[in-house]
Amino acid sequence: MTDTYRHKGLRAKLVEEIKKKGIKDEEVLAAIGRVPRHEFMDSSFINFSYKDKAFPIGAGQTISQPYTVAFQTELLQIEKMDKVLEIGTGSGYQAAVLFEMKAKVYSIERQRELFLKTQDKLPKLGYRPYLFYGDGYKGLPTYGPFDKIIITAGATDIPEELIKQLKTGGRMVIPVGSAEQQTMKLIVKKDDKLEITDHGLFAFVPFLRDKAY
Ligand code: SAH
Repeated sequence: MTDTYRHKGLRAKLVEEIKKKGIKDEEVLAAIGRVPRHEFMDSSFINFSYKDKAFPIGAGQTISQPYTVAFQTELLQIEKMDKVLEIGTGSGYQAAVLFEMKAKVYSIERQRELFLKTQDKLPKLGYRPYLFYGDGYKGLPTYGPFDKIIITAGATDIPEELIKQLKTGGRMVIPVGSAEQQTMKLIVKKDDKLEITDHGLFAFVPFLRDKAY
């Protein structure tokens, strides 16, 4: 991996930018400041690695905007050793940010091409989340329950199966809405109910279901 002073400088600027946009959690900002986003980009967009924007990563998918990654991570209130399930591994950037925060990360991807690429790349960068190829709607029942669950694709509803895999007291962050636009929802699982709050509008690639494996 090559992480130059130039990369570090650009990353420091990116951290300042997302701080200005409202991210406060110092641990989240520090993690964004450490993960070499240029290692997660498609080579055609490498010069834009530290722009606060989403970019294509192949298979019709995108690497999320750093602000969005920071926003979802902040809502999760990550603590060391939290068991975190991510749906939509994609480039692995979000998984790397969670790993930097000392979470135990489990991540599922349904595009085989992306799964294989990310599985090969992450350990070379020192990131060792548990990666799975499959349908995120099903979650990982044998590995759960999880302290936190993050969905990084736009859903049409809140998947019941994932709620089941969330611990009592656990937090889940999921963008829910149409294909064009979704509302970021934070779900806190209480003993007898779900506490759901809305946190603004975002645009994700779709959370797809019903693919045969
Ligand atoms: N977290 C990623 C963002 C990836 S974009 C990153 O940091 O780069 C969303 C990803 O969700 C895509 O890679 C897409 O293939 C994946 N996805 C969509 N529906 C899915 C499903 N049902 N199960 C698992 N992954 C899914």
